[in-house]
Amino acid sequence: MIDFSLTDEQKALRDLARDFAKNEMIPKSEHHDHTGEYPMDILKKAWETGLMNLHIPTKYNGAGMGDLDEVILAEELNYACSGMATAILANNLALAPVLIGASDEVMKKFIEPMTHEFKICAYAVTEPGAGSDVAGIRTTAKRVGDEYILNGSKMWITNAGVSDWLFVLAKTDPNAGHKGMTGFIVETKTPGVIIGKKEKNMGQRCSDTRGVTFEEVKIHKSQMIGGEGDGFKIAMGAFDHTRPAVAIGAVGVAKCAFDHSVRYSNTRTTFGKPISSNQAISFMIAEMARDIEAGRLLCWQAAWLIDNGHKNTYQASIAKAFCADMCVRICTDAVQVFGGYGYNQEYPVEKLMRDSKIFQIYEGTSQIQRVIISKFINDGKGIEHPNN
Ligand SMILES: Cc1cc2nc3c(=O)[nH]c(=O)nc-3n(C[C@H](O)[C@H](O)[C@H](O)COP(=O)(O)OP(=O)(O)OC[C@H]3O[C@@H](n4cnc5c(N)ncnc54)[C@H](O)[C@@H]3O)c2cc1C
Repeated sequence: MIDFSLTDEQKALRDLARDFAKNEMIPKSEHHDHTGEYPMDILKKAWETGLMNLHIPTKYNGAGMGDLDEVILAEELNYACSGMATAILANNLALAPVLIGASDEVMKKFIEPMTHEFKICAYAVTEPGAGSDVAGIRTTAKRVGDEYILNGSKMWITNAGVSDWLFVLAKTDPNAGHKGMTGFIVETKTPGVIIGKKEKNMGQRCSDTRGVTFEEVKIHKSQMIGGEGDGFKIAMGAFDHTRPAVAIGAVGVAKCAFDHSVRYSNTRTTFGKPISSNQAISFMIAEMARDIEAGRLLCWQAAWLIDNGHKNTYQASIAKAFCADMCVRICTDAVQVFGGYGYNQEYPVEKLMRDSKIFQIYEGTSQIQRVIISKFINDGKGIEHPNN
């Protein structure tokens, strides 16, 4: 059975997120883009409103929501400001591997408190020398008695400067390739954790991205996520949950660019008529609508599959690749619709074009999504719907 209707709870979540986006985010988005100031007050309000940490199980006092719920929410927040949305939703990325592999002890100590106390966390996997090639990370965790000693560096970690804890992937057996990796929860206040300066990025400027260095950082073995050697599987498995939400973020940004384009093209006149009356413009906008609709369906499908117990890696990569590429194209076209005004900071689409680019880079580049999709196809598993 195919059913695209949302439940009453999902409709309520969408409306809550839409109101939040309209009242709290949109009015401040330009300010935070221009200053790069971190939107801490907005994150606190998002947490108070119940828009953060959606997936913490009810057993640990959380909302126990699914990935489709996050997809519905993420489109609304990214429509308003994808820099703020990235900051708000980064907790879900850090939580994803933890929810896959954490012990009851870790859940009670680190995760349950997040339901009654505002806390920020970050996913720390990428390193200066290894982004796409996660198996090439060099951070080590050496076992000494009941502790692990961490040494190494991470790079491009969203929310690192404001986080209480990090999910860190490290090599516990440097000779065992990806099977020698293990995940840990590392509190940022632990001696030897050094947080770098805020990076100045092209777009999503208010989101906080930093390097992190570990110098002889002592972590108790109870902070391990899963078993020794499970880290790569857990860290990559997290993307099955998070890629649909990142992909719909691109849909949200594209939808915002589309709305601006429709409004502008109906009011701007050249040669005595609105520019929308030219097929060159109206077809550009029709193609925006077509691709936003297609992208949204891909995200909903990828999220629905995993919520219903199906493997979704292939569909999540297709959604991520399609939506990221589509978003960059639509935002670039929106600048074109605006002509010279599109290139100017006082008009909204210039920000969207800058913000859109990161969707082709973080959580696996557009090329890496194609590597994953190709592998499924070449292994003879891709195109058949897993539910058939
Ligand atoms: C703003 C921002 C926020 C981020 N947030 C986080 C975060 O919170 N946590 C985290 O762990 N990481 C984060 N990242 C890191 C991000 O996931 C990586 O930048 C990304 O995975 C790419 O890695 P890289 O930068 O090392 O590029 P590289 O891996 O060096 O790739 C460079 C280029 O080569 C291409 N390429 C590489 N390998 C192949 C291949 N096999 N086939 C075809 N093309 C290939 C890539 O697609 C890319 O175009 C963030 C990055 C940014 C910029």
